[in-house]
This record gives sequence, C-alpha cells and structure tokens, in this order.
Amino acid sequence: MINNDIDALEIIIYRLNQNDINRIEHEILSNIKELMIDYSFVDNQTYPRPSHPNILKRKDAYFTLIAILLSLRTTLENEIKAVNNFIEKYKSIDDVINCNKNELIQTINCAGMPIKKAKAILDVSNYILKEYNGDINNINVGSIDEIRDKLMQLPGIGEKSADCMLELAFNLPSIVIDINVFRVISRFYYDEDMNFNKKTDVLKIKKFLEDNIIKDYKIYQIVHTIMLLHGKNICKSKPSCDICKINSNCKYFKNNNMYNQLKLF
Ligand code: SF4
Repeated sequence: MINNDIDALEIIIYRLNQNDINRIEHEILSNIKELMIDYSFVDNQTYPRPSHPNILKRKDAYFTLIAILLSLRTTLENEIKAVNNFIEKYKSIDDVINCNKNELIQTINCAGMPIKKAKAILDVSNYILKEYNGDINNINVGSIDEIRDKLMQLPGIGEKSADCMLELAFNLPSIVIDINVFRVISRFYYDEDMNFNKKTDVLKIKKFLEDNIIKDYKIYQIVHTIMLLHGKNICKSKPSCDICKINSNCKYFKNNNMYNQLKLF
C-alpha cells in the first residue's frame, strides 16, 4: 500500500535502480521522478478506494465505482464535494438500493446531471445486487481481460471507467489512459497523427506503456496520476514547453524548436 509521497518516490527510485529495467521504462520513470517534485501523488488521489493513501478515503471498491460515475462531465472540485456527500450519507450498497431517490438526487446534486447520475447509481447497484450478490468484489475473479469484460457489462461503465476500476479499485496492472496521459505520451514520443478519439490510438498508447513498464499496479497508479497532473498543468492543449521540466527528452519540443529555428532563416 502506498502511504505517502515518499513511499511513492521510493517505489520509483527502487525500480530505477534495478538492472533489468529497459531503456524506455527508465526514461519514463526518471521523468516521473522529476515531475514528482512538483506534483503530490497523495493529495491528488481523489477516488475513494481500498488502498487509498488517505485513511479517510479508504473505502470498498463499490465506492470507487460510484465516484467514477459522479466524476463524469464535472469539475474536480464538484466531483470531490459530491463524493464526500455520498460517502457521508450512504455506508453500503444496501443503503443505496433502499434509499429515497429524491434524497439521492439532492445528495449528489453538485456533481451535475443529478437525475441522470442517480439513475446510473441505482441501475448499477441493482445490477451488482442481482448478478454479484451485492458484492462488487465478486467481479474481481479471473484474468484482467475477463474482469474488464465483466466491468464493461455494468450499466454506465465504458472502457476508461473499467480501467480505473482495475487499476484503482482492484489493484491490477491495467494503466488508465485518460486524455491527459494520452496527450503527454503522444507528444513525448511524438506521433503527430495520434488522435484521442480513435480507439486504436488510445489502445496503442496503453500497450506502449504496459509493454515498457513493469506490471505493477503501484507503479501504474503513480505514472498515471503524475502524467495526468502534468497534462492538466503544463502539457495542456497549448503546452507550456518552455517551463516543462522534462522538455530536454521530449520529441515534440525538439521537433517544434527545430521548426521554429528553421523559420528564422
Ligand atoms: S516539452 Fe512540451 S510537449 Fe513535451 S512534455 Fe513538456 S509540455 Fe508536453
């Protein structure tokens, strides 16, 4: 279990010191280590989950699933408020199944689309009750692909949400590629034709990371979180390459600099 930022950093340093680490893994983890000076791994873990570094957010995987549903199309601030309200009011899946729907809508109101999200929460909770005897952990049996397939049969759960459940709720090595991770990696290794809306491109980035980083959910959680923060803060749609700590290794930066230099002549 990762308890704090120092633990996360130690995991990365330990891995970097291994002899069998490949060149790309070394490059990615060295950059993550550099970025961790600016970004806190612990403070930015928002979804409650069984191995959350903050004991107050250490919750059953069911709550991770609810947080994922609440986080759709809302700000981080509103997501956190809605998740905290939810956790305070409901202690188990039974509480939710037997709840007053209007009260649920009020509880999660700040997440936006409360009627739609309340329906999604009730639908998925009833599905887990019927298919998995009310315990979401009964899904966590079999290979990663089998578990992903089962997760994607849950109402309202798509591929990215399924990967979040694998990585964060079930502690399995399946890295989450959100738009921020996608942007940083595709620029860093510079593929100008990459497109987040193309499923094959997202799978390509996922495979690239999973093929080149040791299969360890703790490492995946750290890499995913730090890259997500870097994508949100520096490597945005319009990237701030001049102040980016990892620009010396970035192909996008090198290519653009060369292009800009050529334009001078
Ligand atoms: S140098 Fe620019 S493109 Fe490369 S990772 Fe940094 S911000 Fe992103």
